[in-house]
Amino acid sequence: MNIRKLTTYALIASVAVTMLSGCNKDTADTPAESTIESSLTETTESVPETTAKKIYTAEEYKAAGINELNSVPILMYHRIYGMTNAETSYTGGNVDKDGYNRTSEAFEADLRMYYQQGYRMMRLTDYVDGNIDVEFGYSPLILTFDDGIRDVVVQGWNTDGTPIFDPTCAIAILEKIKAEYPDYNVTATFFLYSILFENGEENDYKVIKWLVDNGYDIGNHTLDHTKLGGCEPEEIEKQVGAMYKKLDQIIPGQYVNIIALPYGSPESMSEDSPQYSKIFSGTYEGFTYTTKAALLCAWTRSYSPFVRDYNRTAIRRIRAYDNGGDDWDIAMNFEQLNNGKRYISDGDPDTIVFPASDNDSGDWLKTTYGHQVITY
Ligand SMILES: [Zn+2]
Repeated sequence: MNIRKLTTYALIASVAVTMLSGCNKDTADTPAESTIESSLTETTESVPETTAKKIYTAEEYKAAGINELNSVPILMYHRIYGMTNAETSYTGGNVDKDGYNRTSEAFEADLRMYYQQGYRMMRLTDYVDGNIDVEFGYSPLILTFDDGIRDVVVQGWNTDGTPIFDPTCAIAILEKIKAEYPDYNVTATFFLYSILFENGEENDYKVIKWLVDNGYDIGNHTLDHTKLGGCEPEEIEKQVGAMYKKLDQIIPGQYVNIIALPYGSPESMSEDSPQYSKIFSGTYEGFTYTTKAALLCAWTRSYSPFVRDYNRTAIRRIRAYDNGGDDWDIAMNFEQLNNGKRYISDGDPDTIVFPASDNDSGDWLKTTYGHQVITY
């Protein structure tokens, strides 16, 4: 532990203990409090005065609705097409009947809407690690793109080595929004299979390197976009392992060990099931891999990574489409989130803050990832 960390623990601990003691609930036996106490004992010595974080009162948490046990939207996009909404024959910016693909106009409007509603982006890999660093009073938002097609369209390269994108593809719109809203923390994870982004091997290898150097992530969508449910373990090991191996050749150690399951299959599994264990670890042609999380296809918001029902092997997503507010489209999901279901951050990735009443059962908060717990 370094000094800064110690200071943080000591300051937070004193606040947390004050709050807990002022609370009617009997929290004496919670693991959270004993962790706080042990931190206090360790850290009462050196506390430099210059590194204090802002300390909030219970009233301030309540007024801002801080709740880090609530849900996080993980959006699932596919292709972004250079069309206006008026040019499609479907509802509100959908390009196909089921709304898997979106117009550039609709995608850009989606991004502005999330921002205006108080969402700020974060990396999927940080969410999986329980490391949620979003400003006080704001909510995390995670973008994912499956299949690579029409997401990153390279038109050429500038003399300084930066890519020239088709202005209607996903990455061009993301970069435009990034320039416009520096506090949005624009990022996304692209889940690729063997076709990559379809710009030709040389362009794709270069642009994948550019993406990871510019705050985006690349994940695994299997080698051949294979439905893994029902596959033999050997085939799963090939589909998952060969794609990691390919990514490791392009961006050694810089991809994320997360898989978006093609067709969301299998929908449920235990990570130690003999059938599906190869999704999570294996060796293909001498390349050994592990997977730290698996994403389902879509319908609704995801659990906070701190709660009991969060399952890293079956993380839910929201299908990014418009269906007039019905059938789990963007509007329906965000209406629910904005009416008491959204994760609202306390601004400190090292603490988990929520109303004590949200953990009445005593087992809803399940995993703290070593963070301090503050209830109000
Ligand atoms: Zn796919």
